[in-house]
Amino acid sequence: MAHVITRPCCNDASCVSVCPVNCIHPTPDEPEFLTAEALYIDPETCIDCGACIDECPVEAIVPDDQLTERDEPYLQINADYYKDHDVEGGLVPPRKAPQLPDRELHVAIVGAGPAAFYAAEELVRKPAIKVDMFDRLPTPYGLVRAGVAPDHAATKGVEKTFASVAAKKNFDYYLNVEVGKHISHDELVARYHAVIYAVGAATDKRLNIEGEDLRNSVAATQFVAWYNGHPDFADLDVDLSSERAVVVGNGNVALDVARILVTDPDELAKTDIADHALAKLRESNITEVVLLGRRGVAQAAYTNSEFLALGDVEGVDVVIDPEDLVLDEGSEAALADDTLDSTIATKIRLAREFAERPQTPGNKRIVFRFLASPAGIAGDGEVTTLTCVRNAYTEADADAAGRVAVKATDERFDLETGLLLRAIGYRGVPVTDLPFDEGRGVVPNAGGRVQAATEGDVMPGLYVTGWIKRGATGGIGMNRLCGQETARAVIDDFVAGAIGDPSTPRDDVAALCADRGANRIDLAGWKAIDAAEKSAGKAAGRARAKFVSISEFEAAAAAGAQ
Ligand code: NAP
Repeated sequence: MAHVITRPCCNDASCVSVCPVNCIHPTPDEPEFLTAEALYIDPETCIDCGACIDECPVEAIVPDDQLTERDEPYLQINADYYKDHDVEGGLVPPRKAPQLPDRELHVAIVGAGPAAFYAAEELVRKPAIKVDMFDRLPTPYGLVRAGVAPDHAATKGVEKTFASVAAKKNFDYYLNVEVGKHISHDELVARYHAVIYAVGAATDKRLNIEGEDLRNSVAATQFVAWYNGHPDFADLDVDLSSERAVVVGNGNVALDVARILVTDPDELAKTDIADHALAKLRESNITEVVLLGRRGVAQAAYTNSEFLALGDVEGVDVVIDPEDLVLDEGSEAALADDTLDSTIATKIRLAREFAERPQTPGNKRIVFRFLASPAGIAGDGEVTTLTCVRNAYTEADADAAGRVAVKATDERFDLETGLLLRAIGYRGVPVTDLPFDEGRGVVPNAGGRVQAATEGDVMPGLYVTGWIKRGATGGIGMNRLCGQETARAVIDDFVAGAIGDPSTPRDDVAALCADRGANRIDLAGWKAIDAAEKSAGKAAGRARAKFVSISEFEAAAAAGAQ
């Protein structure tokens, strides 16, 4: 018997450090960790102690004899990883925390998403480090609340980790407080030894094709925020009256939006999806969602676990034309001689399996198209047709970054559609008063220390973590290593005397923000909101019913304070 890691794996590696036989890989010190879709248990080495189960925040680990039928493919997926990965590497020895100077270290963290929390987790271990976390929203948890799909409840289990960080005596929330409006960057810098920006990647990438701004051409990032009840997007104009939606891109966001569009609303009604989205989805006419991948199946951006999960959606067929699964020469050759990376080999195997599946008349459809790019969007005021171009692998077979590349052919085809979702990635936006790398959409930094320019001098006391530090890649748990690196940079700089003491005590921060009109929500306020949402949800058999307007949040927080 062995244990198996299944779909919800968040890569935060908390399981790795408790495994007594080092059978979970890649570990954070192995190069594969940074790009791994998930972690995998070596069935040959696992001793079934179950320590990892207790540690996993998202309930992804299951003994193999308790796997449900839908999770059985993970037996092979876990085992396959060990076919082509040398796992001799040991574990990162736990870092011996340096002795802090005999005074407090005050850190402000801007943002309250996963990256913010993983940095805070590392800092609040030391009682002498005081962390104040700011977020302009009345709720914490960033994309765990506003990004993770509502039908992925297990993934939201990481909130427990974050809540235990927030419960520490040396942690304070400043929710509903906007840096730049209620308190300035300079005011933070004057009051804290270190300011860490964990503001994520707030906007979407652009296709730069004709018709992109027509009505019903919507950024998937906004659509996700809409169905997750983000207050800024509650009024998003989304029209679901056409029968076909097209999603450009095939990353996990594309799969999320496709799945939500065709899942039975009665199933979604059991989740924490926003009420306004559920109401609209109940009236939706969409029966087919086409996903356009510009490269081939071997380069598909989705993770195998998310692709596999599409097969479990009731009443939905995943449709792939076998002719569309043509491989680039390199992948074809490596697959033939069994040297292809196991994750990519699994991607191809799963797509081929799905392509063979029979379709059920009357089912809704998620259709994968590969080697196709959008060329133009037509419509009179709103989207009616997407013109696509067929792509072919280039002779060189690699772009400047060494990735398999494609070029447009002369072949075009049209897709009639009334809804186009652009799921081609998130992008960071400049942070007021910080330098910005326009090309990469990140704040230039060295291991989390902000630099005046790319490769420039470090700006003492300023740090970044998460997507604004490294770009919009990687799931939630990937932020743990990232947050730890930044937090350790703060601690090391403090110990080394590289950051100066604040010029102003931080005692006036709450009053300062209140004077500027902030209705700050603290831990008690957030707990009141959380309890009110859960209680409203319970009545309807749901985990929570989300508030979406700032006034509702403020009222719930105030009611809890009475
Ligand atoms: P992503 O994984 O980077 O995928 C972006 C997709 O857009 C790719 O298919 C990409 O193709 C395509 N694309 C980019 N520019 C394009 C263009 N100009 N024309 C056509 N296609 C274009 O981004 P994402 O889906 O937004 O996800 C962001 C991160 O969050 C990822 O690491 C993802 O795994 C993570 N995430 C995880 C989950 C989960 O675990 N369930 C859920 C949501 C998001 P190329 O590959 O050819 O560039």
